Amino acid sequence: MKIENYVRDIQGFPKEGILFKDITPLLNDPIATKECLNVLIESLNGQKIDKVVGAESRGFFFGILLAQELNAGFVPVRKPKKLPYETISATYELEYGTDSLEMHTDAIKKGDKVLIHDDVLATGGTAKAVCELVEKLGGEIVQCNFLMELTFLNGREKIKDHPIFAAITY
Ligand code: IMP
Repeated sequence: MKIENYVRDIQGFPKEGILFKDITPLLNDPIATKECLNVLIESLNGQKIDKVVGAESRGFFFGILLAQELNAGFVPVRKPKKLPYETISATYELEYGTDSLEMHTDAIKKGDKVLIHDDVLATGGTAKAVCELVEKLGGEIVQCNFLMELTFLNGREKIKDHPIFAAITY
């Protein structure tokens, strides 16, 4: 099974000039989803994980599956003002301007072994902000993993201090 066959290219979404990688065909197929989950799990080589942190919103899908498979807790990282409890925040660069991400202050304990997951590694801004949030609370990042890495955007440079794994690279 090739995971690539379950990712659909959408030209011009969410705006003109962008080629969007759509994972909904993958999510729609239970066998492909399970296989993709196995690839991500195997990349960890049995390392212990206490928390899986998923970035809003497409990082939630496999983030929760990974957490269940690893017997770990799941932590959502969300856009500002979405989380109900006390939060910490990290700011990252967009093409024009900046944006922020938030996490609950009690989501990670000092020394927790953390896996960060998102669907796509593009410029790396999102992943870097998530790493900052985890480290602010004293979490130890074991790996940042992604379904896809868009290598031509060189996002891995921004998170190069941490092990990185992507199931597919473009
Ligand atoms: P970055 O911050 O530039 O690395 O962008 C990564 C974030 O943007 C992730 O949270 C992705 O969900 C989203 N993203 C960027 N490009 C795509 C895409 O082609 N398909 C789906 N999500 C994308």
